[in-house]
Amino acid sequence: MNIESLLLHGGIDGDHRTGAVNVPIYQTSTYKQPEFGRHSGYEYSRTGNPTREALEKLIADIEGGTHGFAFASGLAAITAVLTLFKSGDKVLITNNLYGGTFRVIDKVFKNFGITYDIIDDFDKVSDNIDANTKAIFVESPTNPLLDVVDIKKASTEAKKHGLLTIVDNTFMTPYFQNPLTLGADIVVHSGTKYLGGHSDLVAGLVVVNNSELAERLHFIQNATGGILQPFDSFLLIRGIKTLAVRMDRHEENARYIASKLNSNPNISKVYYPGLESHLGHEIQKEQAKGFGGVIAFKLDSNIDYIKFINNLELVTFGESLGGVESLLCHPATMTHAALPAELRERIGITENLVRLSVGIENKDDILKDIEVAIDAARLVEVD
Ligand SMILES: *Cc1c(COP(=O)(O)O)cnc(C)c1O
Repeated sequence: MNIESLLLHGGIDGDHRTGAVNVPIYQTSTYKQPEFGRHSGYEYSRTGNPTREALEKLIADIEGGTHGFAFASGLAAITAVLTLFKSGDKVLITNNLYGGTFRVIDKVFKNFGITYDIIDDFDKVSDNIDANTKAIFVESPTNPLLDVVDIKKASTEAKKHGLLTIVDNTFMTPYFQNPLTLGADIVVHSGTKYLGGHSDLVAGLVVVNNSELAERLHFIQNATGGILQPFDSFLLIRGIKTLAVRMDRHEENARYIASKLNSNPNISKVYYPGLESHLGHEIQKEQAKGFGGVIAFKLDSNIDYIKFINNLELVTFGESLGGVESLLCHPATMTHAALPAELRERIGITENLVRLSVGIENKDDILKDIEVAIDAARLVEVD
């Protein structure tokens, strides 16, 4: 099956007992065991639940993996993956990545002796590997600056040194990019974003294509317990069914808005891998089937960014991304506040940078909202 069909019919397609076209919400914590020493395959819902299992099989199918795991949030998924490591191990990370991912690595795992190095250029990742390095953790495109990492190249280098490659595929989704086929060992997702798609749930997913890793992750999932609930599993399955049509529209709108903003004199820089001028444009074209729906841009110094934000009407100002509605955030004070100020400044997460998750509204309505807000935020020139 092609991805558009797999999104609807992958995993466990409906309910075989009743013919219901949707997998039921098995809202149960436990299961009756018919006799001593025998059970139905389910014992307790932390260990296994049929609704969650349907989602886990679905995400494995659409990512081209063999095993999927669903967690209570993207960060619970990332936390579970990081507990594969032990004190003394080191992980290499991209210099811009989701603020919460950096925070859990820097403020939680570091306390357990798992350290990290920030890598500016993953093409030169080999220079940064030592005996303690056990994994690379990359986002591509990165959040919020949309840098593109050559996943095939990075994972090939990682393999040479026996490291695991972990890719956060939240921005691309399995519709546009499948890191496992590019050589990654572990894919993580915030299901909260495009996969859910409607800003109505918080969820996380992990996918692997190796049964030894799968066994370890299932053990961790059950042992640490950060599982996704049955109702949220149902909602996420429902969201995934429409992923293809939503991503097509997100991308069409994002390409349009990015190109228009790119020629707007009040915007000093636009970050979007779909722009030919973007540094990672060619790699993105090679490793992914699309450019996604997130863009970032810097307002010119004659625009008051706070006024701009306060004047938006159609575009919602808030955290998150990937919902059907356009959403704008201010990374320096919101999603990326956990990054050290010095690092933010060095890589360009400045005060005048905003990140726009382009929704599926009419693209001219979105553009107009931004242009009107820019006009209202122009600083008065004094002679
Ligand atoms: C939101 C996000 C996360 C964290 O996911 P939650 O569901 O909010 O816990 C991780 N990575 C990326 C790229 C994200 O955008």
